[in-house]
Amino acid sequence: MLITRKKFLQIFSGSIAGFALSNLWLPKLLQAANVKNGKGRLPIVWFQGQNCSGCPVSFVNTEYPSADEVLIEVITLEYLPTIMGGTGDVAVDILERMITDEKGKFILAIDGSIPVDSDGNYCNVGEINGKSITALKWIQALSSAAGAVVAIGTCATWGGIPAAPPNPTKAKAVRDIVKDKPVINIPGCPPHPDWIVGTLVHVLKYGIPTLDDLNRPVIFFGPDKIVHDNCELRQYFDAGIFAKDFGQKGCLYELGCKGPVTHCDAPVRGWNSGVNWCNRSGGPCLGCTEPTFPGGTGSGFYEKLPAVQVPGLSEINANANTIGIALGGAVGAAIAGHAIARAVSAKKLKQKSKQNSDVENSDKVMEQSNTQKEGK
Ligand code: SF4
Ligand code: SF4
Repeated sequence: MLITRKKFLQIFSGSIAGFALSNLWLPKLLQAANVKNGKGRLPIVWFQGQNCSGCPVSFVNTEYPSADEVLIEVITLEYLPTIMGGTGDVAVDILERMITDEKGKFILAIDGSIPVDSDGNYCNVGEINGKSITALKWIQALSSAAGAVVAIGTCATWGGIPAAPPNPTKAKAVRDIVKDKPVINIPGCPPHPDWIVGTLVHVLKYGIPTLDDLNRPVIFFGPDKIVHDNCELRQYFDAGIFAKDFGQKGCLYELGCKGPVTHCDAPVRGWNSGVNWCNRSGGPCLGCTEPTFPGGTGSGFYEKLPAVQVPGLSEINANANTIGIALGGAVGAAIAGHAIARAVSAKKLKQKSKQNSDVENSDKVMEQSNTQKEGK
């Protein structure tokens, strides 16, 4: 029996048995891709603009299915400079063949941003008749011929680091260049391999997945995937206990965490086979899946989000308006509702424990907070 779309989404969202992808589901995933005996494999051209190659490196770290299973059984990777053997004319011939002979039959994946200053000449890929071809021209031609376009990584989805001020090459995102068809955005610096493989298999088997208003698959970046709402340090935030330096116990908000405004399922999926994720490792979420990355929140990587008032033990100053204005839209509203409710219990906690946010006392505070919740 072929796997249903519902089951596929459950597997990839990690909502079965509370874990993400695992070997247990591998046969069903390959079944979902309908790839028995190599039939039905999905042709992919993976083009690279201004990038660091972190995205394809993350892709080949996929575990369930493994990189070789993806490459041999799920897709036909026609072109990806980071890992392909062919170079020079051999590589350029592939791109030309896909444009002229394979119209509508392949997926165009792109990582890296696209410079448009100086007619795009900050990024040239190969030559035809001795003339350099810009990434801009390749993407315009390839996207017109492709059946679907997927932007992989934050440089391709929003512009990312190459487009950060002062953006000397006038780097653009794929969605700024490709206008004749929807662009599926898989952000992340880099994206998790599950996000890439899961999206590609969904496109192959079920078509374009459900997307949010930024064209991100909701299975990985939906409204229920706000980092702050799933963070294991959330109890510290609610109790007003903030780490003041790296290595200290507490919420990482004051060390620059962008979790309150970021959609990403890393807190439940984990990186490196679920071993760890950003905040658990002590490095605050940098908001790498959002269009504001790297500097658009108004704060640097390690500076706290501006104008966000949070519940704390020494002062309860959260309210819907200030948080809503600071964060904007649905995310701000969701956080505000949660923060106000938690602020009340944090205030009670202050009265009872005469505790402050001294991190050395954080365990005691958390214990009291948990006891209070259990007593309700
Ligand atoms: S601010 Fe960051 S570290 Fe603190 S609870 Fe939210 S996501 Fe976790
Ligand atoms: S938790 Fe934050 S920094 Fe980590 S992958 Fe998600 S968006 Fe990027």
